[in-house]
Amino acid sequence: MFTKHTYDSGKPGPHLLITAGVHGDEFESISAIHRIQTWIQDEIVHGVVTLVPVVNEAAFLRGHRTADDGLDLARTCPGNIDGTVTEKTAHELSELICSADYYIDLHTGGTRISVAPLAGYVLHPNMEVLEPTRQMARAFNLPIIWGTDWRLEGRSLSIARDANVPAIYCEYLGGAQCSIDGINAYEDGCKNVMGWLDMIVHSQPEPLIEHFVEDPRPGAGHLQINNPAPFDGVFIASVSLGDSISAGEIYGTLTTMDGTKSVELIAETSGIVILLHTFPGVNTSDPLCVIMSEQG
Ligand SMILES: [Zn+2]
Repeated sequence: MFTKHTYDSGKPGPHLLITAGVHGDEFESISAIHRIQTWIQDEIVHGVVTLVPVVNEAAFLRGHRTADDGLDLARTCPGNIDGTVTEKTAHELSELICSADYYIDLHTGGTRISVAPLAGYVLHPNMEVLEPTRQMARAFNLPIIWGTDWRLEGRSLSIARDANVPAIYCEYLGGAQCSIDGINAYEDGCKNVMGWLDMIVHSQPEPLIEHFVEDPRPGAGHLQINNPAPFDGVFIASVSLGDSISAGEIYGTLTTMDGTKSVELIAETSGIVILLHTFPGVNTSDPLCVIMSEQG
């Protein structure tokens, strides 16, 4: 269902899988993998790296988050070999994840959403998986590290969790752009993890981490259920990614298409704004704003 590239050092070492394009409209991730393809065979000294620049080719070709069956690949794992295009892709991705020793899944907010640069993971109940996962997230070296509820299902990380594969996902902006800073940060992050695993010769840079949050509450980390739009309309945010916000503060306004109704949207929790709906036209239940609670 997708093209994968495998680079073997010929020496013992781990199998690192890096995927992008689980959603078809997330371009920093895809471009970072394209760059890594140009140097990895010359640089790898231990183990095997598998790169998948676009997992969800059907979604990429239509310029959307999902393929035309409308299923979200990141909610469809482990998929079904006899199912729809997304279910088949989820099946193949899940098998590949189970073959890896470490896994990085690169995302962005896509066309309509922007997300603060972060490395996330599930708080695996097995410390022998959780501890290397934390170290990998630190090694990747984005400003926010966010460990959340391990019980979320259907994700690439759910498959990794069940296979005891240390795994992180990363986010870097989105909003229908392809940020050069994002491509650089993702390429550097993958290098940092490969260096941490002794797969390439690489010295670790100074840490850029500003927030380290672990939030085990049920549903924490589910980016699509926070502050859903109460009705269709035009959303104007009054906060920016990375802002601190307190419960009770206004994070934006939503106005109906005909302009007859407008509401101020109030934050129910305090923390850091890590996701905003940047495309102003929103539909009922679209996620408008995610606030990362700092106390965890
Ligand atoms: Zn995504």
